[in-house]
Amino acid sequence: MAETLLQVFARLIRATGPISIAHYMAESNARYYATRDPLGVGGDFITAPEISQMFGEMIGLSLADQWHRAGRPARIAYVEPGAGRGTLAQDALRAAARNGLVPEVHFVEPSPALRGLQRQRFAQATWHDDASTLPEDVPLLVVGNEFLDALPVRQLVRTEQGWRERMVGWDEAAGRLLPVAGSQPMDAAVPAAHADAAQCTILETSPAAAAVTADIASRLATQGGAALWIDYGHAEARTGSTLQAVRAHDKVDPFAHPGEADLTTLVDFSALVPVIEAAGARVDGVIEQGLFLRRLGIEARAAQLANAAPPHAGSVARALERLVDPAQMGSLFKVMGFAGGGWPAGAAF
Ligand code: SAH
Repeated sequence: MAETLLQVFARLIRATGPISIAHYMAESNARYYATRDPLGVGGDFITAPEISQMFGEMIGLSLADQWHRAGRPARIAYVEPGAGRGTLAQDALRAAARNGLVPEVHFVEPSPALRGLQRQRFAQATWHDDASTLPEDVPLLVVGNEFLDALPVRQLVRTEQGWRERMVGWDEAAGRLLPVAGSQPMDAAVPAAHADAAQCTILETSPAAAAVTADIASRLATQGGAALWIDYGHAEARTGSTLQAVRAHDKVDPFAHPGEADLTTLVDFSALVPVIEAAGARVDGVIEQGLFLRRLGIEARAAQLANAAPPHAGSVARALERLVDPAQMGSLFKVMGFAGGGWPAGAAF
């Protein structure tokens, strides 16, 4: 039988020592997403587009409105990294088409399993392994929902000896992976404000989220267009590890089931603001998902759906509440809007 990812990590770490959290997260998620459809009731977790068509519809309306105000360029590309089952794209582009916007469609999706599901809904789309091959001669409308949270983070931890990288080691006696402090001093990598932080303080950064955001932002600056990053996270920097694992809708130990559980972190949107600006694009805001959806008219859309199909009124109301209620997804999830090339801001910002 093929080695499990746990066995691969154990062998690697025995041979060459602990691996970084970033390496661990990248390998685990690559295996996890490559082999399954994790979404929905029978899967590991559920996302906003899978809760209700209203989520994608509001995004489609927002994009169509921006496109109209940008002068309706004839050639335009919709780009969605990490598109899951393609549900958001389907709902967004149906609503956009009703308003005249029919873009070419590009997915950035490394998972063969999820590409297959996306292909069932979009025969005409183009797929990319990463953002580097996206078209360069057309304005882009970019949407990523729960995409950044799956990208690998790097963690630094304050020890008695100073700052070290937080790594993943192997406990031979217990037969399990566990977080350990690396042996190399990392003090030079820590901003002055954190130099004397209390022991066990953890600083988390996402070089991968910054890199893909910089790439998209510089394309927007030169090609024109706008982007929405939607994810759970915060608008101010914080300390502490936010690494978590979810399996069958339950939180589990992030080091217990590599490749078998979804590993995510909270997105630090504040770290992306200077990245976007340095690339020559403009940040239009970071607002709570509930506010974003209400400003775009989700309550009116919910009333319309309920009136059109009264037996479904209860489920529409529950979906609306899940998406906008601050105690559910409304507040923890944030929407970051950015744009370039003279494009106007999205209507919700
Ligand atoms: N946006 C969808 C799916 C979210 S799950 C939804 O809201 O339902 C995370 C998605 O990101 C999956 O499609 C996964 O395959 C993709 N993904 C994970 N790592 C990625 C990477 N490095 N580049 C692009 N997509 C990635």
